[in-house]
Amino acid sequence: MRIITGLARILIVCLFASLARDCVAADGARQRSILVLEDADFRSPFYSEIFDGIRAAAKENRTIHTVIYGESLDLARFPGPDYEESLVGHLKTKYALRPIEIIVSIGVASAKFLQKRKQEIWPAAPVVYGFVPDLPETRALFLPDSTAIFARVMPTQLLTAARAIVPDLTRVVLVGEAWKNPLTYGHWKQDFAAAMPGLEVTDLSGEVLRDVRKQIAALPDRSAILTSAMYSDGEGTYYSPVAALARIAESANRPVIITSDTFLGRAGVGGFLLLPEIIGRETGKVAMRILGGEAASSIPSFNGDNVKPIFDWRQLQRWNVAEANLPPGSELRFREPSFWEQYYWHTAIVASVMLVQALMITILLRERRLRFLAEVEARQRMSELAHMNRRATAGEMSASIAHELSQPLAAILINAETAEQMLRHPAPDLSEVRDILGNILRDDQRASDVIGRLRSFLKRVPTERHELDLNATVGEVFRFLSVQALTYDVGLATEPSSANIRVKADKVQLQQAILNLVVNAMDAVADLPDERRRVVGRTSVADGNLALVSIADAGDGILEDKVTEIFKPFFTTKTQGMGIGLSIARTIVEAHGGHIWAENAPTGGAVFHISLPLAATR
Ligand code: ADP
Repeated sequence: MRIITGLARILIVCLFASLARDCVAADGARQRSILVLEDADFRSPFYSEIFDGIRAAAKENRTIHTVIYGESLDLARFPGPDYEESLVGHLKTKYALRPIEIIVSIGVASAKFLQKRKQEIWPAAPVVYGFVPDLPETRALFLPDSTAIFARVMPTQLLTAARAIVPDLTRVVLVGEAWKNPLTYGHWKQDFAAAMPGLEVTDLSGEVLRDVRKQIAALPDRSAILTSAMYSDGEGTYYSPVAALARIAESANRPVIITSDTFLGRAGVGGFLLLPEIIGRETGKVAMRILGGEAASSIPSFNGDNVKPIFDWRQLQRWNVAEANLPPGSELRFREPSFWEQYYWHTAIVASVMLVQALMITILLRERRLRFLAEVEARQRMSELAHMNRRATAGEMSASIAHELSQPLAAILINAETAEQMLRHPAPDLSEVRDILGNILRDDQRASDVIGRLRSFLKRVPTERHELDLNATVGEVFRFLSVQALTYDVGLATEPSSANIRVKADKVQLQQAILNLVVNAMDAVADLPDERRRVVGRTSVADGNLALVSIADAGDGILEDKVTEIFKPFFTTKTQGMGIGLSIARTIVEAHGGHIWAENAPTGGAVFHISLPLAATR
């Protein structure tokens, strides 16, 4: 004997078992059978979900192995005794060798069928009724060995949903054949009258779909359309309920209230919706209990938890309905995520990048401001230092200034005495007296010029940069120092450039820097023979964009290795020197974006250069 595979073994076991009216699962346990009878069509989404629910409930039970058969009786589309007769024959033949242990009956039409014909086909099988309304008329259909799980959308629930969507509702329009069926919507007329007296009702159930579509396209404002599943219309045209409702919703100018969650998203705004998958699970669970050994008649019928208020969020936007208006516990489907929900990460990343950027900008701005404040402070300090430097220079110059002043003052005294004596004369020569007075005035002017220059030199002015004429600026420094030059008998000369050289600078500071160089130059030549006691100031333009001031003397020059050191603070070779003149000059020049350096001229003596950027020409 060849090896028999596991699969073949199962098939053989099942074959023998089926011949013996029983099927045995692969592990040897007996396979139990459920037949689901439904009155419409398993291919429709609603019934297919019910079947899925039953199957899921059976799968959950791990101890009982179940085979589930399903039959769509399609009684809504195929009514009449002949069809029913042939159906009975068909089912008898089909299940002759398949024992059916439990029948799950879905829908009212199926219950009716079983009431009439079950005895002939499956006399012993208990029945679990699902998807039936809890009405006396349906209870009257139930067979003795049975139980039921009720599922029903009440007419008042449709009304509640309609009023949530249209708060000032005055009219409802009924669409779909089930409104005509007392076993589906019961006695809606009484229910509506009790819930909302005065409500106007337009009943279009049973009318031709074409006409229905026309009528619902022009409904008054305060109305809503209440639908039931629609399998056929007054003309006898058959539809799938979803397609029929979609066509209705397409033409409707008012909100469409629906009754099953299989319609949601394709038609209608929502409402109290039947949940077919739950209906299937609930009936399936009860069927499994019976397979487990409980008697169907011992399980009381109950209302399933299979209807829930559910609405299409997009439709709520269309009809401008606030979520708060919806019945308590309502669920919203198809909610479009807000921009924040949709782009949460993108937004968060962009926001954090911007935040970091803003932080960096703030830090940079703060640093810039601190730098600016530091610069302002540095300039003020420099200005103070320059002022002190000027006072020190003025102190050094005081002897020569006194000398300069004493000359005109002495001349004034002599002239005044002479004039007085002349006036004592009986016939004074008035024209000569006039000349003397003129001399007095001139000498006085000379003295006051000296004092004026000194005062303006010592004046403390706020630091300000303006465009100025470099030739004139250098000229003023040389003029100011002319008194001292006379005292030391040093020849001061300027050789201004023929070009109009303009720089942007703080005049007082720049003059201070130049003055320090000239004073040093005079110091350098003060003790030298006559022919070397000269200092020359030159101005020129270098490289097309630099203004140059050069102060040259005929002194002994600078020691070669000290040409940079001399600019350091407190470097001095003089017994009375402070060593800050050149360091102040360098600070001033560099603050103006320029350079200062010293060199020894080939012909002897030192030359100090200041270069500054030319002011932008207009
Ligand atoms: P101080 O004049 O008080 O010494 P400065 O900073 O003005 O301070 O000068 C520093 C030093 O630079 C001087 O002591 C001197 O040695 C040198 N120096 C400055 N100018 C000249 C110059 N024209 N010729 C030679 N040496 C100079």
